Amino acid sequence: MAVIVMKFGGTSVADLDRIRNVARHVKREVDAGNQVAVVVSAMAGTTNQLVEWVNQASPDYDPREYDAVVASGEQITSGLLAIVLQSMGVKARSWQGWQMPIETNDNHGAARVSSIDGTLMRERIAGGQAAIVTGFQGIEPTRKRIATLGRGGSDTSAVAIAVALKADICDIYTDVDGVYTTDPRIVAKAQRLSKISYEEMLEMASLGSKVLSTRSVELAMVYGIRLRVLSSFADHETTPPTNIDNLEDIGTIVCDEDDIVEQQVVSGIAYAKDEAKVTLRNIADKPGVAASIFGPLADANVNVDMIVQNLSGDGRLTDMTFTVMASELERALSVLDGAKAEIGAFEISSSADVVKVSVIGVGMRSHAGVASKMFQALAEKSINILAITTSEIKISVLIDADYAELAIRTLHSLFGLDAE
Ligand code: ADP
Ligand code: ASP
Ligand code: MG
Repeated sequence: MAVIVMKFGGTSVADLDRIRNVARHVKREVDAGNQVAVVVSAMAGTTNQLVEWVNQASPDYDPREYDAVVASGEQITSGLLAIVLQSMGVKARSWQGWQMPIETNDNHGAARVSSIDGTLMRERIAGGQAAIVTGFQGIEPTRKRIATLGRGGSDTSAVAIAVALKADICDIYTDVDGVYTTDPRIVAKAQRLSKISYEEMLEMASLGSKVLSTRSVELAMVYGIRLRVLSSFADHETTPPTNIDNLEDIGTIVCDEDDIVEQQVVSGIAYAKDEAKVTLRNIADKPGVAASIFGPLADANVNVDMIVQNLSGDGRLTDMTFTVMASELERALSVLDGAKAEIGAFEISSSADVVKVSVIGVGMRSHAGVASKMFQALAEKSINILAITTSEIKISVLIDADYAELAIRTLHSLFGLDAE
């Protein structure tokens, strides 16, 4: 019999009716004789509310107390689901992160799982009891404080638990029926992918497709966990998770590149609205100027993503444009203000009204010309590119936020991703 991890996100557990619906999915797998661990998120909107309360209590909050508050949403849903399952005659028990335990580092608010002891849970699920685990949280062992894994972190919990339990499959149940070529809420013609490679999914996630958390994909890739995304709102049959070709009729399988027969050049398009652009103008163009800007930012733990440097007309002055997380913009600006002496004279402007749009595909490794085709198509729509970054399997452009949907739709058609 298979060991299965089933994860249900916020919209799937948004109220008691939805929790009852989740319980039916769980019962189906338990009745089929599988050993089941279920990972749940907080009810939709709950974590946002908790974060808001923390910020209202004090914007300068203690991260350990932030975690004590925001981890609580998952405790409610795990208990409620256990109660509903018990009422349906299914043996079930709720588990919080510390009870397993799921150990993390001390980076409160965005902690990383360091180890999970799956021994006790394996025993319990082998005895036929469904384990209902709080997603998003673990315990930092030195101070024994609850730690959360960053927003969207329940996906990460699910995969980490799948690793600890040596699960045969990790099923991520959500409000869409799989991973699409782009966010189906933006492009109606987006198509469900029956399979996507770990590498492409990793890029999609890290470039903004929030259907899976980046870290969950990374863990699944490193540990070879079979990951499937499917809808919690549809009925499913129980599927023996042995042969991946049996699984692709519903949902999306995240798998090795070699398991995908028909590979497109571009597999998907992602967008991220959470970056902000900073431009420094008329800085002296001399050796060390980049270091004088990015050194202090790095020292202050401000992550810089895209960077563009332009020479001015006479070659003695330069402009530098780069992006940081919008949430870190204020901090970045104050760091740059503090580094004026090292950088020298400059004019500065910034904007959070930008969007990063990325095209992703392992096929780009062997196909030239994707970038030029992309830039040409954007130019034809009069969309100005503010910055560009590329890697082997992706090209990202930064554009004005007003053009985001137009750009995504244009590129989706351009690369042949539109549904018929
Ligand atoms: P959950 O609460 O179940 O974790 P999320 O809201 O985190 O769900 O993720 C699901 C959402 O991700 C979808 O509703 C969809 O709008 C969005 N999304 C973004 N990009 C994609 C994509 N490429 N494929 C599918 N969904 C996507
Ligand atoms: N409840 C958490 C959040 O909203 C974790 C998750 O849903 O994955 O970020
Ligand atoms: Mg999510």
